Amino acid sequence: MAMALHGLSAVERACERATLAQLDVVGQGRMRDGRRCFLVPSSADEAEPGRLHVVEMHHTRHPHCDCSRPVCDHVGAVLMALVAEASERQRVAELVEAALTSEIPSPDFLELDAEKAARDWQNDRRDADRWELIEAGNW
Ligand SMILES: [Zn+2]
Repeated sequence: MAMALHGLSAVERACERATLAQLDVVGQGRMRDGRRCFLVPSSADEAEPGRLHVVEMHHTRHPHCDCSRPVCDHVGAVLMALVAEASERQRVAELVEAALTSEIPSPDFLELDAEKAARDWQNDRRDADRWELIEAGNW
């Protein structure tokens, strides 16, 4: 239990630092084996400001950044982006649910990109085990 709390606070600290440094994900894609990866620039007070770091997601362990520091700011920026992504998916799910139970869909629902929503759903399933890992604080 203590380990999990310790891990969790390391993650929280990384997210905090990323927010303070205004680090943001500037690109993303997938590795050949389907894992997601993200590009995050170095902050102004790092050795090489603006240098892009590659953060790779793993299914069995925590995200890996090529700067090789444990739970670095770049990983923090990626986790913040994933949290924002998850809350957007939650919003979409609520709009869909509301549309299913009402005769008049809300304008927000009509603006949804159905193809993108379907793609996101596929990605969700692929990333589900990663979320379990993060939530378990298994760093
Ligand atoms: Zn890093």
